[in-house]
This record gives sequence, C-alpha cells and structure tokens, in this order.
Amino acid sequence: MSLPPVAPPSAPVDGFTGMSAARFGLYVHFPYCLSKCPYCDFASTAAKTVPEERYTRALLTELARRAVSHRGRQLDAIYFGGGTPSLWHPRFVGQVLEEVARWFNIAPGAEISLEANPGAADASRFAGYRGCGINRLSIGVQSFQARTLKALGREHDGPQAMAAFDAARAAGFDNVSMDFIYGVHGQTLAEVTRDAKMAAAMGSEHLSAYALTLDAQSLAEEVPLAKQRARGEVQLPEDEAVVAMQRAVSELYEREGLQRYEISNYARPGFHSRHNCLYWTGGEYLALGTGATGFLLSGPHEGMRYSNHRSAEKYLAAVEGGLLPHTHPEALDAEALFNERLAMGLRLRSGVDVAKVFAAYHREMGPRKPLLQALVNAQMAVETHGRLALTPQGFDVHSAIAARLM
Ligand code: SF4
Repeated sequence: MSLPPVAPPSAPVDGFTGMSAARFGLYVHFPYCLSKCPYCDFASTAAKTVPEERYTRALLTELARRAVSHRGRQLDAIYFGGGTPSLWHPRFVGQVLEEVARWFNIAPGAEISLEANPGAADASRFAGYRGCGINRLSIGVQSFQARTLKALGREHDGPQAMAAFDAARAAGFDNVSMDFIYGVHGQTLAEVTRDAKMAAAMGSEHLSAYALTLDAQSLAEEVPLAKQRARGEVQLPEDEAVVAMQRAVSELYEREGLQRYEISNYARPGFHSRHNCLYWTGGEYLALGTGATGFLLSGPHEGMRYSNHRSAEKYLAAVEGGLLPHTHPEALDAEALFNERLAMGLRLRSGVDVAKVFAAYHREMGPRKPLLQALVNAQMAVETHGRLALTPQGFDVHSAIAARLM
C-alpha cells in the first residue's frame, strides 16, 4: 500500500459540531503489555512472550467476518490502540493495513494512528510503522517525573519518554501525540505543571491529559490501586486539588498554542484527532480485537454497539472456533442516539448545534430552552456560531449538565 500524505490529516465535517471528524473508522485493539500497571482497567494483559502471529491471524479472521457487509466503504480513520500496540512488529501491523485496504477504500489523507509506550519502542521500529502507513503516533508518556511514574507502576522513566518522542520525529512522524495523567496519589501541582511545561516545549502536535480515576467499576474489576484505595492505603488528591491541576495544564497548553478542543484533549491548529472526534460526533466504527467496542448504524436513528471478549484467550478461542468474539450486542434506539449526540457534542470546544440535534431526532426543544438559557446565564455555556459550547467551568461539570439536558 502507498504511504498516505503527511499531516494534517483530513476528514469530513460533522454538520452538528463543525468538527472535521471521521464518519466511518476502524479501531484495532492489541491487548498485550510488558506488565500490568496497577491502575489499569483496559482490556490488557501482561505477556512474557507475545503471540504476535497467532493474534494477527485471529484479527484478520475477525476482519474478514465483520468487513464483508461493509466492503468498499470509505474509511476515514484507523486507530491501533491497546494494550501496547508498539509491541506488535511493524510487519504484522503492515499486514493488517494491507488487508484493511483490500476490504475498504482508505480515504486519501486518512489519519492512521498507533499507540506506543516509551518502554517498548525505538527509532527503527517507529520507522517500520511509518513505512507501513501509520501517520500518527500517540505516546503513553503519563509523566516525566520519577515519583509519579513509580506511583503509577510504569516501567519507563522520563528520559525514555523523551527519547521515544525524539525517535518518533527521527522516524518521520510529524503528527505526534503524548498522553499524561494528573491527580495521581502523592503528585503535586508543581509536578503536574512541570510535566505540562516540558510536554508543550517539546512541540508535540497533540496532547491529552486525563485525571486518574479509580471508580466503582475499577474496584469491581479488581484493579489493584482501586483495592488499595478502598482499604485506605492510597489517597488520591482532593477534588479541588485535581481541578487546580487540570486548570494549570489547560492554561499552560492554551498559552503555548494548543487548543483545548475536547475536555481532555489539546491540539495545535488542524491536529485534533479525526479518529477520536468520531466518538464525540456519532460516527460509526468497526472494532477488532480483544475488548474492542464497535458502533454501527442500522438506520438513520437506530444503531448497534458490540463489545468483544476482554480476555485475550477467550477472544482467540472464539475466533479460532469460527465464532464472532463478542458478547450480547446492544441495540440503540433514537432516544439513546439523541442523548449520546448531545452529551458527546458538549465535550467539544466547538459545541453542538442543539436545535439541529433536536430537529434531526424529532424531539421537542421547547421544555429545555429555560435550562439552556440558565447555562448561558451562569457562564457554564456560550452560544457560538449557532452552537452551544461549554465554558471551562461547564467542562468541570459536563456529566451533570449532560444529564440535566437529557
Ligand atoms: S501499558 Fe497501558 S494498557 Fe498496558 S497495563 Fe499499563 S496502562 Fe494498561
């Protein structure tokens, strides 16, 4: 397959938010990691020897099963997430992309991302990914500070994270993202600010900053740090301290020319993630691999979400046994899609054309008008280009606002 053009990527414009966002994408999950981080509730598994070939075979089998009813459709974005996809040899990633190109029409300028971990990457491997068609790398830095990385149980250190970024540049990636975590136990505001300053100074096109969450779901899934917290052995910073960290990061990035285009995501002009924007704008996506979740429309106002088995062994056994590797698909009716469109659209700085969403889903807007006005009066939201957009204060309570609007 020929190399797609370099950044910035392109994608259609979503009429409700004005964002350039993939309308049909592909998510590929690679579940293996060098070790399991104590805060992780992703579908990931530590493996001494990664069964790369076997997993690739299974994934291509699943691709053929799922793609058959979408043959020839335009694919606007592809995302390899994990787990640690940078443990997957470029030869196999290339094989997957070649097969994908046989089934779909990969749009010219499509964003094709791969997540990489600093401890599992080097320049020649990155060059291999660039050579097989990946045009965006997302590096899981989390922090440059030794104390924070230790608290998170990460295998890499700050210099390795910086080396991974340099390796990405050396391999020809001109669209690089880095992920950070704040609100970690023992972490100070000064440390978070130092991370943000270093990240912005490195010139990355895209940065993500997520607060560490150890919720009831993490506890149910026996995430070690969530259990330690429940036993009182670990204390996360107070909510006000976490909000202060978020504000510090946000203000610093904005000053450095990285716009907060979504609650947790920042980008230089033109470099917002087309694939991730698909999730916030109601786009469809096929998903392949362990624990992957896909969403497809079955009519203008009906959809279906499926989730693959979260255990790698269960996933492999199902595919090798000739089965689709998902549990019960969830049918989504017009009400569910309407709610998602509004709630997800309000995550975006662009805002969402509320009137258009109500009209498209044949909903009566009248009863919600006082609430919308109250949000604007309370400076939680602004009207911009006919769209309702949350302010930074509104972003802090996004879930509550979305729940009230529904
Ligand atoms: S590297 Fe990422 S996916 Fe793997 S265990 Fe750690 S947090 Fe989870």
